[in-house]
Amino acid sequence: MARPKNTHDSFSRFGQVLRHFLPALSKEKPLIAGAMVALFSSVTFRLLEPWPLKFILDLLIPNKAPRTNGLFPALNNLEPNAILILAPLSLVVVVALCATSDYFKTVGFALLGNRVMTRIRGKLYRHLQALSLSFHDKARSGDLLVRIIGDIKLMRDVAVTALLPLMASVLILVGMFTVMFILNWQLTLLSLAVMPLFGLSTVRLGKRIHAAARKQRQREGAMAATASEAINSVKVVQALSLEDHFESSFSSQNKRSLSEGVKTRRLAARLERTADILIAIATAAVMGYGAKLVLDNQLTAGDLVVFLTYMKRGFRPLQDFAKYAGRLAKAAAAGERIVELLDQTPDIQDAPDAIDAPPLEGKVEFAHVDFEYEEDVPTTSDLSLTIKPGQYAVIAGDSGAGKSTLLSLMLRLYDPQQGVISIDGTDIRDWTLPSLRGQISVVLQDTILFAADVSENIALGASDVDQEQIEAAARLANAHEFIKNLPQGYDTVLGERGVNLSQGQRQRIAIARAAVRNAPILLLDEPTVGLDENNERSVRDALRRLARGRTTLLVTHDLRQTMDADVIFFIADGCISESGTHQQLLKENGTFAQLYRSQTGDPQAAPQGTPHSVTS
Ligand code: ATP
Repeated sequence: MARPKNTHDSFSRFGQVLRHFLPALSKEKPLIAGAMVALFSSVTFRLLEPWPLKFILDLLIPNKAPRTNGLFPALNNLEPNAILILAPLSLVVVVALCATSDYFKTVGFALLGNRVMTRIRGKLYRHLQALSLSFHDKARSGDLLVRIIGDIKLMRDVAVTALLPLMASVLILVGMFTVMFILNWQLTLLSLAVMPLFGLSTVRLGKRIHAAARKQRQREGAMAATASEAINSVKVVQALSLEDHFESSFSSQNKRSLSEGVKTRRLAARLERTADILIAIATAAVMGYGAKLVLDNQLTAGDLVVFLTYMKRGFRPLQDFAKYAGRLAKAAAAGERIVELLDQTPDIQDAPDAIDAPPLEGKVEFAHVDFEYEEDVPTTSDLSLTIKPGQYAVIAGDSGAGKSTLLSLMLRLYDPQQGVISIDGTDIRDWTLPSLRGQISVVLQDTILFAADVSENIALGASDVDQEQIEAAARLANAHEFIKNLPQGYDTVLGERGVNLSQGQRQRIAIARAAVRNAPILLLDEPTVGLDENNERSVRDALRRLARGRTTLLVTHDLRQTMDADVIFFIADGCISESGTHQQLLKENGTFAQLYRSQTGDPQAAPQGTPHSVTS
C-alpha cells in the first residue's frame, strides 16, 4: 500500500476509512446517542467538581477580593452554615453523578466499539472470500489472517481504550478552557501559550511514530505469513530439513518487528515527556501570575484554585494524546491495512444484468479463448473446443500446457481476456456465479477435508441432502465400506485437513461429495495421481460411475485414461493441437500417439515415431 506522502493523502486515507466504517456506525444510532449523552453529562459534572472548594475558599474564608462568583451569583447571599453543609454535600453529589455517567459512557462506547468492529470483521471476511483467485494467488494467507484477526482486534481495543477517552478529554478541554476564559481571559491565554510548541512536537514526532507503527504492523503480517507457510507445509519442511531456513527468516522478521515496536514506544515516550514539561511550564506561569493577581485583589484564591485544577484536567488530552500516540498510530496502521483489503474489488463478479443459470444440459464450448495469468505471458491463445452434453472428455498435454487452467476458466475462477466460454450456447458470464458453480462438481488431485464429521464433509456445498443420499453417494464412490469401519462411522470427525484418512480414502470422500451435488457437469483434475494400484482402480471405478450421464472433463497426464474417452483434446502451445477419439489420435500418429507409446510401451500403438516422456 502506498504510504501517505502529504496531508492531502492522509485526509483521503482517513476519508476511505470513514467510508467503510460509517455504514457500520450508522446502524448504532441509539447506542451512539446514549453514549454521547453519558459523555456530555460526565464532562459537565467534571467541570463542576472544583466548584464546592471554590465556594468554601471564596465565601467562607476572609478574602480581600470582592466576595462574588460570577457564574453562580445566587450563592453569594447564602449563610455560612448553609455553605458549610451544601458545599461538601454537592461535592459528593457531583462526584456520584459523574461516576454514574462515566460508567454508562464506558459501557456504551465499549459496546459500540465491539459491535462496529464485529460488523467490520464480518464484512472483511465476506469480502476476502469473494476476492478473486488472482488476488489470493498473490496474497499471503498468514498476513490476511493477521489483518482479519489482529488488526481488527487492535483497532477495537484502541478505539475503546484510547480513542474514546481521548474524545472525552477533548470535550473536557473545550469546556474547561471556556470556563477559564470567563473567569480570567488573560490567565487563560497565558496557559495556552505552550500549545503551539506542543503542536509542533506532535506533528514532528507523530509522523515518525506513525511510520514506525506501520512498519511494525507490516512486519507482523510478514512474520505470520512465514509462520503459516511453514506450519501448513510442516511435512515438507521436516522432510527437506528446512527448519533452520524458516526459523532464521522468522526470527529476523521477529527481531525487526521488535525493534520497530521499541522505536514506536521510545518516540511516544519522548512526546509524553515533552507534554509533561510544557504543561509544567504553563502551570508555573499561571501559578506565578495568578498568585500576583490574588495579591493585587484582582482574583480570588478560589478562582485561582479552580483555574489550576482546570488546567491540570484541561491539559489531560495533551498528556493522553502523547500517552496513546503509539497505540493510536498502530491502530491507524491497522485501519489502513483493513481498508486496503476492503478496497480490493473482485475481478470476477456477477454482471449487473446477470441471471440465474437454468438447469444445464452440459454442452461446453470454448470459442477463441485467450487467457493469461500475467501480462504478456499467454497461457491459452485462440483456444477452441466443443464438448457435447454427457460426453466424457479428456484434456491431455505436457505439464504447464494449461490443462487445469481450462477447468478454472469453466468455474469462472478467472475470466478470459478474449473469447467466450459458453454452456448450452450461453456465455457463462451472463449467469450469476452461484447458479453456475452450483451445477458443476469438482474432484481435484489434493482433496481438502474440513474439521467436521464424514457426513458433513460429503454434504458440503449441497443443499437439502439427507443421510440416505449421503450414503448412496458414498456407495457410488466406493467409500461406504471404509466409512462404516471408522470408529464412529459417518459421525467420525475428520482432522483439520482429513489427515487421519489415506489419500485414496480422501479422494473417495471427494467423489462422494461430487456425487451428492448431482451436478450435470463434472470436472476432474488429476484425481488419481499418487494413488497405489488398488486405490487407483477403486477411485477410477467410482469416477466412471459418477461420470455416467454427466458432461465430464478429465485433466490427466496418464494417457491410459484416454482409452474410454468420447473425445480427447491435446493441448500444446496454448491451443488444441489434436482432438478426436483415442483410435483417431493414434492413427494421426502425432504428439499424442508418441506420448501414449512412450507411457504404455505398447508396440501395437507404435508403428513409427520417436517416443519421449511427459515432462511433469
Ligand atoms: P500440470 O499438468 O503440471 O498441472 P497444467 O497443464 O494443468 O500443468 P496449468 O496449471 O493450467 O497447467 O498452468 C498453465 C501455465 O500457467 C503454467 O505455465 C503455469 O506456470 C501458469 N500458471 C498456473 N497458475 C498460475 C497462477 N495462479 N499465476 C500465474 N501463473 C500460473
